[in-house]
Amino acid sequence: MIIHKIKELREQIKEWKKQGLTVGLVPTMGALHAGHLSLIKKSVEKCDRTVVSVFVNPIQFCPGEDLDKYPRTLDADEGLCNDAGVNIVFAPSPEEMYGRGHILSNDFLTYVIPPYFYVDKLCGKSRVGHFDGVCTVVNKLFNIVQPDFAFFGEKDRQQLIILKKMVNDLNIPVEIIPCPIVREESGLALSSRNKYLTEKGKDEALALSKILFNIKMCYNKGIKDVKALKETAYGFLNNNHTLEYLEFRDKNTLEEKLTADGDTIVFIAARVENVRLIDNIAL
Ligand code: AMP
Repeated sequence: MIIHKIKELREQIKEWKKQGLTVGLVPTMGALHAGHLSLIKKSVEKCDRTVVSVFVNPIQFCPGEDLDKYPRTLDADEGLCNDAGVNIVFAPSPEEMYGRGHILSNDFLTYVIPPYFYVDKLCGKSRVGHFDGVCTVVNKLFNIVQPDFAFFGEKDRQQLIILKKMVNDLNIPVEIIPCPIVREESGLALSSRNKYLTEKGKDEALALSKILFNIKMCYNKGIKDVKALKETAYGFLNNNHTLEYLEFRDKNTLEEKLTADGDTIVFIAARVENVRLIDNIAL
């Protein structure tokens, strides 16, 4: 079943809560692929009822980003959700979420702002305000759906860490369930933005996962010095890649690591055919 209105969704949720049913929420921007479906599957297994939100959230896009051309495939998404046993697809309009005229400046909207230490690095550095938009929309979804569990992919690891921090800092009564990255057989992490790539671009994009897998192999062989591990990346890069960052950070606090250990995540972002791609791996 698809629901577009907050009021209607709330009535349904109230009914479920009255019956003592547990509710899982899987927030997405749609254009669903096997990565999203792995989160959905986990929720359907774990919870009595599952809500998948499909909402291309305008306030998490920065000026000049792909808000207008972001793939929107609601009919297909609804079909996939039905097949996967989802109870409700929640697909609000921007007006429904942010009010008439959806004035999106923070002069007119209450935002949830994550701590600066978590957003002044990695994706937050080039996507200024992005995580404010993410935290605000996820907080709204939590208030609307009141889920017992919410499922997020490790693909967006900085987002996952920031959302865990938000839930902890604001005492939000939801348990965040992290879900592993789903990859193509080639190693490429699935992403709705892979649709922008040509076949050649997809081949070039493999550099990201190759760099991460190679770093993990070197680490397992005993190389712990981050500078030495970073140097192993350059052999995989050519003129078709614009590396934005390759960083080693703590899995909970995002503090920088100079020596890699079991709490280290390696984060990478690069542009291929002007498409911004991200990936990461836990050591
Ligand atoms: P998005 O629609 O890109 O906002 O993603 C919605 C959710 O799906 C987020 O929690 C993502 O981390 C997760 N996700 C996207 N791609 C993957 C993937 N390849 N593997 C696992 N989770 C993913």
